[in-house]
Parts: sequence; C-alpha cells; structure tokens
Amino acid sequence: MRVRFCPSPTGNPHVGMVRTALFNWAFARHTGGTFVFRIEDTDSARDTEDSYEALLGALGWLGLSWDEGPEVGGPFAPYRQSQRLEQYADVAARLRESGHAYDCYCSTEELEQRRERAIAEKRAPGYDGHCRALTAEQVEAYRAEGRAPVLRLRMPDRDFTWDDLVRGPITFAADQVPDYVLVRANGEPLYTLVNPVDDAAMRITHVLRGEDLLSSTPRQLALYEALAAIGVSDGTTPSFGHLPYVMGEGNKKLSKRDPESSLQWYRDEGYLPEALLNYLALLGWSMGEDREFFGKEEMATAFTLERVSPNPARFDLKKCTAINGDWIRALAIDDLTARIVPFLARAGAVSEPPTPEQARVLAAAVPLVQERMETLAQSVGMLAFLLVDDDVLERDAADTAAVLTPESRPVIEASITALDGLGDWSAAAIEDALRGALIEGLGLKPKIAFGPVRVAVTGRRVSPPLFESLEILGRPSTLRRLRDSLV
Ligand code: GLU
Ligand code: ZN
Repeated sequence: MRVRFCPSPTGNPHVGMVRTALFNWAFARHTGGTFVFRIEDTDSARDTEDSYEALLGALGWLGLSWDEGPEVGGPFAPYRQSQRLEQYADVAARLRESGHAYDCYCSTEELEQRRERAIAEKRAPGYDGHCRALTAEQVEAYRAEGRAPVLRLRMPDRDFTWDDLVRGPITFAADQVPDYVLVRANGEPLYTLVNPVDDAAMRITHVLRGEDLLSSTPRQLALYEALAAIGVSDGTTPSFGHLPYVMGEGNKKLSKRDPESSLQWYRDEGYLPEALLNYLALLGWSMGEDREFFGKEEMATAFTLERVSPNPARFDLKKCTAINGDWIRALAIDDLTARIVPFLARAGAVSEPPTPEQARVLAAAVPLVQERMETLAQSVGMLAFLLVDDDVLERDAADTAAVLTPESRPVIEASITALDGLGDWSAAAIEDALRGALIEGLGLKPKIAFGPVRVAVTGRRVSPPLFESLEILGRPSTLRRLRDSLV
C-alpha cells in the first residue's frame, strides 16, 4: 500500500491537517506500506518557505516519520511539486493535443454573468461548456483580444461512481460535475491536475483525505481515465476514502481561524505530541473496547478503515486536555522534567540547562505537581515560586487582596514565630509547627489558617502541597516571604 500526505505550504499547520497525516501514517504502518510526504507548492502567490519549514517541523515534532519525501528522498523524487512543473506542462500539453482537455477563453465576468443567468433559470450553475468546440476563427478572435486561456478537462457525459473506503458507494451525476480548470491562464497548474498526475507517477494506491475534497474525486477519476488514455498512467486508479469533518464550537466546521486549530497553539500550551496524536486519532476512528488512551504505535497496529466513521467528529478541547493530563501522569519524572524546563526557561524561572540548585528544586518539586497538571505550560504557575528570588516573587493580585487582609496579620506573625524556632526543617515538622500555632494556638479552621501562608510564600491560592513546598523552598526564603507579606 502506498499513501500520501500532500499539504500545501500556506499558513500554519492545523489540527485537521495533522489528523489526515496521522490516519495516512497509521494506514501505511498497519499495512507495512509506504507513507509518502509530498508538498503541494504550486501556488506561488500563496506558498511560503516558512510554511514549508513549519510542515516538516510539525511532522518531526509529532514523530510521524515519512518513508519518501523531502529530506529523505525516494524513488519518485522530487517530492516538492514546484520542482516537477515541466512534467505537469508536458501532461497538460498532451491532454490538450488528445482532446481530453481544451482551452477556455471565457473571462471571469462572462463566467459570472452566465452563472447568474443559470441560477435564475434554475439550471446547474457550473461551467457550461462554452469553449468546448470553438472554431479556429473564434480562437483567433479571442487571441486577437489578448485573452489568455485556462485549460479545462472535458468531463465525460456520464455519472461517476466509486466505492468510498469510508462512506461506501458514492455517485456524482453527470450534470453535477462541470468541465473544470487544470491550468490557470498564467500557466500555473492546479491541484486538480498535479495531484492525480503525481498519484499516478508515485504509484499511490489509497487516497485518504478530508471530506471537503469529496467533490473533487469525480473530477480526479475522470482525469485518471484521461491519463490512462494518453499513456501517462498504467490505468490503475487509487481507492478513495474521505475522513469525516471535524466540527468545532457551535457545530460549525473547525475553522483554520480558531486559535485551537493551530498546531503551534498546542506546542505553546504544552500539549505532548503523544497526547495530541492520541486525541486526534479519536476524531473519526476508534480502537474499540472503549479504549481512549493509546500511543501511535498501538494505533498503527490496530488501524483499519472499517473503524473509520463517516459521521462528523466533534472537536472537544476539554477532552483533548484531559488526555494530555493522562499522558503527563504517565511520564517518568525525568522525562516530564525535561519537557517542563523549556517552559520554565521561557518564563525566566530557570536557565537552560538548569543550574545544579535549580535541578535539585525540580527533582523535589516536579513529583508534587505531576498529578495536578493538564498542560506543561501550567507548570510555570505551579513551580516558578520555588525557583525565583524572593524579591521578584509576584503574588497574584486577586489572591493577595482576598487572603492577605489586615485580619491575616496575626496568622502570618504566628507562623513566623513557629517556623523560626523549628529544629527539623521537614514537611512533617513544618506541618506540626503550623498546625500547633494556627489551629490549636489561634483556634482557626485549616482553610483560614493556611490560606495566608500559602499566598505569602507561593504567591497564589492554588499551589503544590504547602508543607512540601516550604520544605523545598527552605527556611530563609520562607521566613523572608512571610515577613515581606506583612509590609
Ligand atoms: N493539498 C490538498 C489538501 O490538503 C490535498 C488534496 C488531495 O488530497 O488531493 O487539502
Ligand atoms: Zn470558456
């Protein structure tokens, strides 16, 4: 089996794209086939080198390795379509010569006028075949006006049917699929031409792609027939399977403009690539037995198209985040720490790599927060107070206003006294001392007692376990922060 992932390098990689890549990758791995990564960069006005780099970076970050494509090469190189333009021009010329395609000189205005008329007269609004049989004189006249033609495929006048790998039998009636453009007037080939040409050249056997491309399938089937007729393909046609839509908020299709559709957003927030792939696998596929936590290799082992659903999948960020929390809890402490460090470094809380003292704090503190984190970025709020100098500790304004009130002064003062004279600086001894001073001594309820201490020392009302935190922080810093909070 040979499958391809063929994004165009425009904008930022998004999750819909990653889902398509993942399903193709899993299908290739499951069947022992080949995962081809091909770059559809034939639109010079929209494609960018940055976006190309981002695509490679995305698959690299996710660990979806490709067998043929950029950087690794392969028997059908090059895999950047911008480097294959001569081949498309050659195929286009042969399609024109053989009559499978023809030049269309209609201007945008003319097309638009006829479209409106067709709609008004309740006829199909697509291209009406106006230029299918122009006489030599008509062509001459258009040329004399300086018009440059587009190239259109002459769609056979019959229905197109295929057995979709996901959706079952699908038919497009003849009048639903007008003659469509293969090459722009400026000579740039469109994806409707270049993808079938390369799918044939690269011996692609299965095309798995988003449902938004469903209506281009009858066009491509017709083009495949034409390619076979002119000897460009060997006559075999890939099987097509269309992956269900991914719906976002309000049951609308997840849009590239939604911030959480951008892959970079997940990287910035500290989603693990393992977790993101795990979640995206569930968007249209299921492992069975209600299993919802699995790695990509397990997915590949279990992946069959029978378990891909044709029904729209709902993107649920909460669930994605919960799965990320599961993955974080499953990591070994060293691994988790290594993944957290860049986030802390970006926030200025550690150097990269951490100093020995910072490493000591992390080794003690990361186990305290592993259970509580759902994203790596949350580690900054939970851990930074243990790593920054006392004089730059930033206390949350709302938490400070709520908890460090004039009434809390005696609590802080009693805590200072209790901790100052403590012999053994361990979490258990700290707990005993504070309970003795605040709960027994002042007669406070635990919540009222420890809230001010927590905000004074950690800066927030929500923190890792308090007594362990104070142990890690050490006595001098703890006392300094308690005293600072009184002024
Ligand atoms: N570049 C297209 C897309 O990602 C792929 C088209 C195709 O699968 O043929 O939407
Ligand atoms: Zn025309």
